[in-house]
Amino acid sequence: MPEVLRVALPLPRPGWFDYLPVRDEPVDASWIGCRVWVPFGRTRQLGIVCAIGPSTLTPDRLRPIQRRVDAETLFTDELWRTLHWLADYYCAPLGEVAQLALPASLRRGEALAETGDVLYRCLESPRLRRGGQPERLWQWMQAAPRNAAALDLHLPDWRATVRGWIRRGAMTAEPTDYAPPAPRPAAFDLDEAQRQAVAQIDASSGFVAFLLHGVTGSGKTEVYLDALAARQAEGRQSLVLVPEIALTPQTERRFRARFGDAVLVWHSGIADGERARTFAALRAGEPRIVVGTRSAIFLPLPRPGLIIVDEEHDASYKQQDGVRYSARDLALVRARALDVPVVLGSATPSLEGLNQVARGRYRLLTLERRAAGASPPEVRVVDLRRQQLDAGLVAESVAAIEHTLGAGGQVLVFRNRRGFAPALLCHDCGWTAACDRCDRPMTVHGGGRRLICHHCGARSHAPEACPDCHGLALQSQGVGTERLEQALRARFPDVPVLRFDRDSTRGRDAVSGLLAELADRPGILIGTQMLAKGHDLPRLDLVVVVGIDEGLFSADFRASERLSQLLIQVSGRAGRSRRRGRVLLQTHHPQHPLLVTLLQGGYPAFAEAALVERALLGLPPAAHLALLRAEAQQPEHAEDFLRRAAQLLAASTDGPAVSGPMPAPHPRRAGFHRLQLVLSAETRAPLHAALDAVWPALFDLPEARRVRWSVDVDPLDLY
Ligand code: ADP
Ligand code: ZN
Ligand code: ZN
Repeated sequence: MPEVLRVALPLPRPGWFDYLPVRDEPVDASWIGCRVWVPFGRTRQLGIVCAIGPSTLTPDRLRPIQRRVDAETLFTDELWRTLHWLADYYCAPLGEVAQLALPASLRRGEALAETGDVLYRCLESPRLRRGGQPERLWQWMQAAPRNAAALDLHLPDWRATVRGWIRRGAMTAEPTDYAPPAPRPAAFDLDEAQRQAVAQIDASSGFVAFLLHGVTGSGKTEVYLDALAARQAEGRQSLVLVPEIALTPQTERRFRARFGDAVLVWHSGIADGERARTFAALRAGEPRIVVGTRSAIFLPLPRPGLIIVDEEHDASYKQQDGVRYSARDLALVRARALDVPVVLGSATPSLEGLNQVARGRYRLLTLERRAAGASPPEVRVVDLRRQQLDAGLVAESVAAIEHTLGAGGQVLVFRNRRGFAPALLCHDCGWTAACDRCDRPMTVHGGGRRLICHHCGARSHAPEACPDCHGLALQSQGVGTERLEQALRARFPDVPVLRFDRDSTRGRDAVSGLLAELADRPGILIGTQMLAKGHDLPRLDLVVVVGIDEGLFSADFRASERLSQLLIQVSGRAGRSRRRGRVLLQTHHPQHPLLVTLLQGGYPAFAEAALVERALLGLPPAAHLALLRAEAQQPEHAEDFLRRAAQLLAASTDGPAVSGPMPAPHPRRAGFHRLQLVLSAETRAPLHAALDAVWPALFDLPEARRVRWSVDVDPLDLY
């Protein structure tokens, strides 16, 4: 048997493909982790060598690779092992997992980007007009050699001038190692609680998981900054995960103010080239601080210092398609492997996190008070029963908005539904406009003219007359952000009314653009959960929460956790400066136990009760779940596949409990019937043992050919 290269290809199936090296190159360990171009059918694919060993194929069926791209592995040891772990844990092909860890240019086969820095040094003074911009630039550069980042700050359009000088021999460009600027001092003194949190993080050596539970506005970010400064001073690399792109501009500014160009930003709005440079810089060990969204967790960290996960409870850390990994959980896995501390911060920690604190696995750090003497917001429940509603608002809310604006403050009207209205209804016969591919109500958009399905994106015109009874009594039911905007514009024509949702804020800087437009003038912000998190809006004095009642009665087991987090987070936007903030919570269910618990005992009371309930019901974090989902146009196809899978899973003794096949909570989407198996076990081991044994076999089931299926380990919701 010849020794071959085992190559993982970016294909949605498990297993490796065997290839021979080109010509007579030796097969040795230097290949592992390198990219190779290989022939695949009639095309070629870029794969990654995962192992070497004797082939199971006969020599005549083996083909040589076309080209070796890398001379050495792209990954650090730790990252390479973590990727294997991840593929195993989440039941994902290694080839797909490796794709997650590479920026697009490397996935296309391009070479690693250049690293290091370039210093521009003055040689011989060129002839310059006295007093002009070039002369001033020259003088500034003569004082010390400067790099591009410093030049960008000094004079944004320096490039043409400097290029001209280099051409004429007046200046040199010398490659050097990247040296971070000295961190600027903090803007203010930390308070006692913040200082203690920082001290504990600083004092930890090796892996420790901290849960930083700090109420909204308690200054968690300042704790991160100080803890990062200590690691930065040691020349180490740190990673700060943040939940969403809309959040990053403001966050980015705060990190840059402290660490300057040592901060690299990573999210979907960052161009390929920049990402490639970030990957290469980290791989080369440059002492950088990366502030990024979910996929930043895959960056190499050969000189690790600290990993931070801000808003650790946030659902956006879990990827919901492809490889369904959790970046938050992965942060813990990597911190342990790298032997560095990890800080999970939140005002509303996940029940998983609190459970780990109770079990002594995470160390709790608490910030109980808001920073700089700000008080917690005052929350009032507004009972909607028997009250007149105008575009979803009661008179008391409208009066409070008017009062706040009159006093020069800003108001946030929170409604977690975009569009004009959640449904279109015939008042005569009860017909509701539904998506015929999803069996769900269509959302009304465009002031009532358009219908859009929020599940599959289907669009149509709103009918003029009811298709069932031909009556003309069609009405928009309920309110979305668009309708609120219309109503509030009409009611308060003299102040800016700005809407923040996915429809109004396409594009990377839309949110910060809108916020900058408002500045600190009195005005109204209408927003979905996009505005609930992270933004520091010092002038915001009032938050009105409209229509949370759907969330109180959702069937999903995490719904109450989500709703509590959302309510606390959105309330936390109010009164972050010295003025006391107010929150009005409109509801038809003022006595609902969830609301009562939250109002009386706050998030800790909710969490305590919820943990007891989850334990009683055998739900996470008291148990571990995995879902096997299948969808097909014919429901029998999905059912047959899942039934076969259930048989295979049942074969393992002491395996997980398997329930189903059962319809998914949302049983039809875009014309596909959706069914699932729920696997649960009290400990992880049997769950993973069963999945490991069965997962590869699922690909070969004849029933698998007629369905789209996926495994979701630690699913966030049962959808
Ligand atoms: P969190 O991340 O917990 O919501 P932030 O770190 O954004 O809180 O802090 C909230 C506000 O309080 C910010 O405007 C911040 O600049 C300010 N702040 C934080 N810590 C202090 C402090 N020790 N002294 C004065 N102001 C502070
Ligand atoms: Zn009708
Ligand atoms: Zn649909």
